[in-house]
Amino acid sequence: MTEADRAAERRREQRAAELPPGMGKINASKDVCDKGGHPLSGANLILVTDKDGGVHRLCRECHRDQVRRASSLRRELARAASA
Ligand SMILES: [Zn+2]
Repeated sequence: MTEADRAAERRREQRAAELPPGMGKINASKDVCDKGGHPLSGANLILVTDKDGGVHRLCRECHRDQVRRASSLRRELARAASA
């Protein structure tokens, strides 16, 4: 490791230490979902990886609700279009 590498490493550590406490860790530390207080664990937990490689946690219960709402909206629109 060169002196420049070590300096860069120190800067990285310093930046990490200067982040407001909890930034970026807030979501990771939650163990219930925001919307319905469902447990973010076990069978109710869905892990999704976005294109940047970030991992997000979804509540299966709320996700199902969202899908249900979206499909009933689609049905409504289809009915309205055919009437
Ligand atoms: Zn939920």
